[in-house]
Parts: sequence; C-alpha cells; structure tokens
Amino acid sequence: MQAASSSIDAHDASDFLSGHQAHQHLQTTFATGKTRSAAWRLSQLDALSRLLNEQSDALQAALYEDLGKCKTEAWLAEIGFLLSDIKHTRAHLKRWMKPRKVSTPLLAQPGKSYQIAEPLGCILVIGAWNYPLQLTLAPCIAALAAGNCVLLKPSELAPATSALIKKLIPNYLDNSAITVIEGGKEATSDLLTQPWDHIFYTGGEQVGRIVMRAASDHLTPVTLELGGKSPCLVDRSADIDVTARRIVWGKWMNAGQTCIAPDYVIVEESVKEALLKALKRELKAQYGKQPLQNSDYGKIINARHLQRLQGYLAGHTLFRGGQVDEQQCKMAPTIVLDPDPDSPLMREEIFGPILPVLTTCQLSDRLPFITSRPKPLALYLFTNDTRVEQKIIHAISAGSVCINDIMMFMTNPELPFGGVGHSGMGSYHGKAGFDRLSHVKSVMVKKFWLDVKARYGPFSGWKLSLLKRFL
Ligand code: NAD
Repeated sequence: MQAASSSIDAHDASDFLSGHQAHQHLQTTFATGKTRSAAWRLSQLDALSRLLNEQSDALQAALYEDLGKCKTEAWLAEIGFLLSDIKHTRAHLKRWMKPRKVSTPLLAQPGKSYQIAEPLGCILVIGAWNYPLQLTLAPCIAALAAGNCVLLKPSELAPATSALIKKLIPNYLDNSAITVIEGGKEATSDLLTQPWDHIFYTGGEQVGRIVMRAASDHLTPVTLELGGKSPCLVDRSADIDVTARRIVWGKWMNAGQTCIAPDYVIVEESVKEALLKALKRELKAQYGKQPLQNSDYGKIINARHLQRLQGYLAGHTLFRGGQVDEQQCKMAPTIVLDPDPDSPLMREEIFGPILPVLTTCQLSDRLPFITSRPKPLALYLFTNDTRVEQKIIHAISAGSVCINDIMMFMTNPELPFGGVGHSGMGSYHGKAGFDRLSHVKSVMVKKFWLDVKARYGPFSGWKLSLLKRFL
C-alpha cells in the first residue's frame, strides 16, 4: 500500500462519514497531480492485479455467498475477466497516453496540432449486484488507466462481495486516490450530491434516471450501463445442437442474472421442435437431472427477486422447469412456450432463469416486434446464412451483436461494451474505457515568425478574397 499524500491518512480514508468528505479527499489528491504519471497508473493496475490473484479464494467465497456463484463462473466472468482487462490495459497504456498528432490547415501555419488524453478528475463508480466484483472493478480499471481518482460504491445487494471490496482495496491500492463507500439508496443519494467529474453507473433504468437527474445539477457527464430485453434469434439454417449448447450456457450462467443474457428466443417454426429438444438435452447435460441440487447452479439474489420471477410464470405454458427452492433462493431453468407478447414476462427485463421461446414462420416477420421496443443491450442471431446475418445486423439497433454465440464479444477488449437508447449510454473495456474516462484535449502550437496580416482589421476586399482562398 502506498502512503496517502493528503491530510487525511490512509486509515481515515476508508472510513468517510459523508460523500462530501470522500469527494474532498479525492479532489485534494487529484490536485497534487500524482495520478497523472504512467508510473502511478501502472503501479495501481499492478496492485489491483495482485489483489485479484492473492485474494481469489476469498473473492470466490464471497461471490458464492452472495449468488451461489461456482468457482468456474467466478473466475470466467469476474476475477479472470478483470485480470485479462488489466493485462490488456497495461500492455497498451503508454501508447494510449501518447499525444496523437493531427494535420494543421494552411491558414494556421506555421504550427502543429495534436490531441492529448487528460484525466477527468474524480470518478464515482456505482456498481450492480449481479457481477458485483467485475462491475465495480472494471470501471475502476478504466478510471485508473486514465489517471483519475475513484470512489467505488459496490452494490449493497451483494453484501459479502461489497464488504470484501471495502476491506481489500485499502490494503493494495493508493488510499489517497481510490476509496470505497458501502451502502444502499441513502449512501448513493448522498454521493450523488457531489460535483463528480464523471459518474459511471451500472444497474437498472429506473435508478439510471435518478443518477442522470442528480448529475445534471453539476453538469457531470454520465456513463449508464443499463439492461433491457436482449433477443436471441434462431434461423432455420443454424446448427441446432451447437445453438442450444451455447444458449443454455449463456442464459443460465449466474441463473440468468446477466444483463447480456438472452432474454427471449424467437425461432423459425421449421426448427422449433429440434431446438426445444436440443435445449432440454443440453440443460440435462450442463446442469443434471436436478438443477436445484446442483451446486454449480447459481441462486437468485434475494427473496424479492425470486417472487418477481415466480410472478412472471402465472398463466403461461411451461415447457420445462418452474420449480423453486425458497430456502436456497433458487429457481430451476425454465422455458416458457409462446407467451403473450403483452404479458409482463415479455414487457419487462426477466433477469432470471426463465427463457420464453416464441415461434415465427420467418425471422423477418418478427423484426417490427423487436424494433418497436427499446433498443436492446445485446442481440443474438444463430444462422448459417450470410444474407440473414447481414440483414439482422443492419435492421436492429443494439449495444452489441453476436452471431452464432452468446456473450463472447465480452472476451474481446477491442470491442467497446455499452448500450444504446434505453440500454445505456457510453461504452468501456480496453481503450474504450480509457477514452470514456479521459478528456481528449485539442492542442495547437503556433510560431511567432510568420504573422499573416490579412486576418486582422481594418478589413478590406483584398483581405477577404485572400482569406477565402485559404479557408
Ligand atoms: P442494483 O440494485 O445493484 O442497483 C445499482 C446501484 O444503484 C446500487 O449501487 C444501488 O445502491 C444504487 N441504488 C439503488 N436504488 C437507488 C436509489 N433510489 N437512488 C440512488 N441509488 C440507488 O442494480 P439493479 O438495478 O437491480 O441491477 C439490475 C439491472 O442492471 C438490470 O436491468 C441489468 O440489466 C442491469 N445491468 C446492466 C449491466 C451492464 O453492464 N449494462 C450489468 C449488470 C446489470
């Protein structure tokens, strides 16, 4: 741990009583300029990497306690994901920080122009509960890479992970520049009163609006990583066995509590039966005959959400699942056939282990159904037909598109991740995160030795015609 350079020492820094105190502390640090150097940024990324490696057992245990997340999922989607994000950022950071030279027009000669990425200042990161480690620390990686101070507010709905983040961060990172405040609505509301330089929020749309409203008081820019209903389309040309295997993997990871999980499937009539059979087979292969007894199958975050999910099932035809274990807070993988498009199941984001399957003669018939609704965070299509692939990619606006797989775009740090419209604003991961939390400052440097008088008054006809030639 590095020594704190502000007046508040490292111990006090982890015990702020108010958002104002925490903001002031970080602002004082930022003003010293210490977070700007590449050396400081790299040292913090290394420290975070060390934390993730050395504390991986404790982190996995906390994720299991909060969400029943098995070790493989905890590694794949949280710890390992963050380590690879840090590795990529580390490898490219010095290049991203370099000034980018651009051309200078004749009128401004002699001179040179370039852009530099400067840190924004103090960033508030508000995390969500479903990937409580990843969604708090991935924005933190971007913020540190860009040379900012950060306040992390993990989700109170994943209390074990939140408490561990709060405990571990001060032991590894520079306490004068990175701090953690725990809490729920009240703590977040208090933090939102402060004049942050950027607010990075992950969560639902309703709180997203609250965040944006609060940010407007200080003209603070926001990144909103929201959710919505991500459709998954299956065309007649798809390899149905592979399609089913990948849908089961992506839908029921974390018991369906993934913002980019397929929310519902639309399948062409001619392959519907084959798909349903394959989904059933894959569910058994991946989760066994009794998924509720499988310790690799995650739980629902709390009883309120379990009740919400149970409520969606009323009046629908279940193809599979529907069983609930209230004690363990688990719902079995559930498939609903052809639900009413106006039911809450098809209106609200499911965010749980229920997969509605809708049938259509041709996928193109269902395009208006998708495009008339809010733009999704992710769009999935399974097809072997490149014409269908191109048509869907261009017809539907979505945060990200993945053809013939689920969620795999997340493994590529070269692909910015974020929503569009109601699924969010602003993207991150890799360079996109660095850019998002930097300000690109335009710089022009002129010389004294040539001073064309035509731009100065008194103006005359010949000056105007000369200027017109150069502009
Ligand atoms: P959540 O309950 O964890 O809330 C997110 C944050 O908002 C928490 O830190 C919480 O303290 C704070 N909060 C809650 N109520 C508040 C209030 N009234 N005022 C101020 N702050 C408040 O998250 P959630 O909303 O239940 O998360 C689920 C949603 O998040 C889903 O819609 C999902 O799709 C979306 N999500 C999106 C992404 C993404 O990367 N785009 C990732 C995960 C989840």
